[in-house]
This record gives sequence, structure tokens and C-alpha cells, in this order.
Amino acid sequence: MSHIACAHLQAVVELLEHGADPNLPLSRAVGSALCAAVSTAYEQQRTAAQRIALVDKLLEAGANILAPVPLREGQTKAVGTAVDYAYFKYYQDTRIAHTPYHVLSASEQEVLQTRRSLLEHITVKLRECVILKEKEWDQEKLRRSKKLDSAVHTRVSKKKGGSLCVEEVRLPFFKYCYQCGRSVGVQLLPCTRCHEVFTCSETCRRNAWSQQHRQECSGSLEKRTSQAAPDASRAGLKKNVTGKKGEKGREGKEDRRGGTKSKAGTGGRERHRKNN
Ligand SMILES: [Zn+2]
Ligand SMILES: [Zn+2]
Repeated sequence: MSHIACAHLQAVVELLEHGADPNLPLSRAVGSALCAAVSTAYEQQRTAAQRIALVDKLLEAGANILAPVPLREGQTKAVGTAVDYAYFKYYQDTRIAHTPYHVLSASEQEVLQTRRSLLEHITVKLRECVILKEKEWDQEKLRRSKKLDSAVHTRVSKKKGGSLCVEEVRLPFFKYCYQCGRSVGVQLLPCTRCHEVFTCSETCRRNAWSQQHRQECSGSLEKRTSQAAPDASRAGLKKNVTGKKGEKGREGKEDRRGGTKSKAGTGGRERHRKNN
């Protein structure tokens, strides 16, 4: 980040602190200030807690975490969100991002932890934002759109022939990793059980599952089977909050993942592999 961006961020923060209305011309400035705030270049000036507070302040002031942000390195160009931008900056510092933890010095470990906590925080904010937006949509249509997208990846559409309606209007849902929040430079694969969330790696898939999707995924399962046995599935939901039982138990669909993976990746989304 340049000095200009730093100065710009300071200016926006000061305006906000003095009660400026972020919905007026400031909103665009707040958006780019958000990018500056999540950049590693800004970290010397504030503690982790202060940076998180600043991100929250900018979001409250109307910064759109989903607004397109150009990412560029060498010949590679892509457009992502503020979260993609934050990861992009994070991975540019290869020393911190790619050195085994125990090799890093104590101060480097601290830098790493600070960066990770900020990334985690903005990922949560992004997910909240997307979930909120998706709630405004027709849920059945959204579900179908996501399934159709998954079908393109797994080429189910070929096998099923005419059963998938090509003319169907798909909702332009935002496709991102449910766990880390990235949407560019990653290969996104759907949850093999519900096809409603996507993850970018096996690590993200496992973490998303154990941290929250296990509940939601069985939640959507519960909705569909609610006429049959609502109490039983609700009890199952509770049981699955901790422990690993739910991981393999559900319908044995897990083995399909391998097949999906090898065939996926032909989607039209712009990629740059830098972040992998
Ligand atoms: Zn991910
Ligand atoms: Zn699922």
C-alpha cells in the first residue's frame, strides 16, 4: 500500500470519527479504505484489536465487503472482494505465509497470528453479509441455482439430458469459499450433501463442516424430511454439534467427492493460481 492509501485511510477514519455521513460521497472512499485497512501494509500502525475495530467501523459506515476489487500481480489480473484482496496481500509476504510456524521467530509468529485473526474476522463478516443478502432471495430458486452450478461442475447435466432446464433463470449468487471467504484464485467445490455451500480445499471443507456447516447441512436435510420425522432429525442435529459422528454417517455420499474433484474446475470464473 502506498503512502497515499495510508494517508487516505487516515483521512477517512478521521472523517468517520468526526461524524461524517458515510452514505454520501464518502461511501466509495470508505470502500477503498476497507481494502487499505485489511492490507498487511497497514499493520505497523495499529494493533490487531484496533485493526479489527477499524474494519468494523468501516463496515458500519457502509463499506461493501463484496464490492469488486482489482487484484493484480505481474501479468495476472483478477477481480475479487476485500477478502480476496486481504489474502492476496497476505500471500505476497511469502516469508510469513509459507514458512513452517516453528521456524518463524517469536515476533514473526506474532505477525502471523495477527494476520490470521484479521483474515478470520473479515471472513466472518463476508459470510454474514452474503447470508443476509441471500435471505432476501427466493430460497427455492437460490437452492436450484446452486445445484445447477454444481451440476455444471460434476457434469450431471450430461447424464440427465433434458431433465435440467437450460432456460431456467439462475440467481447470480456469490460463489465463495464458505470457510476462508476467498472467491478468486481458488477452486470451489460444492458440499456433496447439500450443494448449497462451496469450499476451496479439503482443509476448508473439514473446518467448515466441524465449525458450523454440520449443523446447517443437517438443518437443510431436516427441512426436507420434516414431515417424516422432525423430532428424530432435530435430536440428531444436537448430537452432531460436537464429536465426529456426523462426518461419515450421513448417507455415505462422501465417496462422491473424489469424482467431483477431478472433473471440476472447468467453470468460467477468472482464476489466478497465485494464492494456492
Ligand atoms: Zn477456503
Ligand atoms: Zn452441506
